[in-house]
Amino acid sequence: MTHSSNASQQRHPHGFQFESTYLTLPDAFYSCVTPTPVLSPKIAQLNTELASSIGVSFLTADECDVAALLSGNQVSHGTTPFAQAYAGHQFGHFTLLGDGRAHVLGEHQLPDGRRVDIQLKGSGQTPYSRRGDGRAALGPMLREYILSEAMHGLGIPTTRSLAVVSTGENVFRETPLQGAILTRVAMSHIRVGTFEYAAASQDKGLVEALLNYTVDRHMPDIKQDPNIAISFLNRVVQSQVDLLVNWMRVGFIHGVMNTDNMLISGETIDYGPCAFMDDYDPETVFSSIDHMGRYAYANQPMAAQWNLVRLAETLLPMLADTEDDAIKAAKTMIDGFSTSYQHQWLTMMREKLGLFGHQSDDKTLILDLLTIMHDHNADYTNTFRALSQSDNPTGPLHDTQAFGDWVKRWEERLKANKEDREASIALMKQRNPAVIPRNHLVENALDAAIQGDFSQVNGLLDVLKTPYSDGPDLGPFKQPPTPSERVQHTFCGT
Ligand code: AMP
Ligand code: MG
Repeated sequence: MTHSSNASQQRHPHGFQFESTYLTLPDAFYSCVTPTPVLSPKIAQLNTELASSIGVSFLTADECDVAALLSGNQVSHGTTPFAQAYAGHQFGHFTLLGDGRAHVLGEHQLPDGRRVDIQLKGSGQTPYSRRGDGRAALGPMLREYILSEAMHGLGIPTTRSLAVVSTGENVFRETPLQGAILTRVAMSHIRVGTFEYAAASQDKGLVEALLNYTVDRHMPDIKQDPNIAISFLNRVVQSQVDLLVNWMRVGFIHGVMNTDNMLISGETIDYGPCAFMDDYDPETVFSSIDHMGRYAYANQPMAAQWNLVRLAETLLPMLADTEDDAIKAAKTMIDGFSTSYQHQWLTMMREKLGLFGHQSDDKTLILDLLTIMHDHNADYTNTFRALSQSDNPTGPLHDTQAFGDWVKRWEERLKANKEDREASIALMKQRNPAVIPRNHLVENALDAAIQGDFSQVNGLLDVLKTPYSDGPDLGPFKQPPTPSERVQHTFCGT
């Protein structure tokens, strides 16, 4: 399949070059619907660096024009905004969903020929809104902006944030809140839930149409493979392994790993109640709606694998000629997730400890450190980062006999490296961030921004661009929360 039909490409203001290849899919997959205009759109945050990296510029533009475009008030001529249909398993339960408060303005063509969705979130009701108002509040949209840009700074695949526009209208949750719209940039918004939506339809051609479209868009190199569905599933498994290992590396807890929040492209999406862990505890949960700890830190790889089983189920008829063979093929691929995850997790943890090569007791060494960290409520980020510092840190963990004994074993293991100590330190500094978007700092910054003071938001965004660098002024950003500052619960950003 090619995307030439219905994909008339046009130049738009600010250098946007929009197509809408998604509209070549059967129309069950979307609804063409324009954003609902808002009263008084104003730019609250604009990502000029991201803009220039995608070949867009707002430098000479009138701010009101930019705000009009990025609120959906002004739909540029020749574009057809649309909302996508999808389904999802939410905390294990299947539901029909769809973009209830988001519109894809178009797919912008990058200078290198790839395409990204430019999506507004909070831009009004769609046929998929169910009882929702189609809107979003300023705090949660700024939160997504900060966390997604932090994730990008950490080098982890993620949707990006181009702008937050305040709407001049209130949204009503428990109290009235300032309304806002986020502009999200994603390789695409095709989710595991999009495949589930296709499979749930009576029309058996939908899964195949979606598979062909997705392969064309994200992995055209597998088009000639003997079984595209198998190659596709293997790719998605591998990109999820990579993503999950990265999340675990930096202590990221997504919070709502429902199948509608898992992208086929392998980018992190939907920064609702997500948070970075302070103290190391594998059972950490922040989300106020995750009562059973289904998506706790240590459960995330299993949750991803569970979601991939749901994806495999949608493709069963295409995996083999008989149902038995299809189930066998799916099982092999899904089992491959565990094997591959364990392998890559071990590699990642070795790198966090500056270990080169393989020694038989590396895993024990790693697990023992994690146990000691857990026993002493050690800060996940700072403990690992401190291993690469030349000064000997002191503190509740570092002063213990258990940690001292562990350091001796680690030093012994480092001697088995063929590379010198500098190479180890360099590796550790690339894998262990000095700064993460700590929850208490994010909350404080958002509180100030809602009062009109964006200095803390900008300060955070600035250091989070280079989270692996040691800077002289990082002190406050590296401090774990005091007991009274500690954020226990995060809320879904609706
Ligand atoms: P999320 O929790 O953000 O992944 O959203 C789950 C589903 O609820 C998606 O289909 C959203 O589009 C929809 N949704 C969330 N908030 C709203 C809202 N305020 N209005 C309409 N739909 C919403
Ligand atoms: Mg979602």
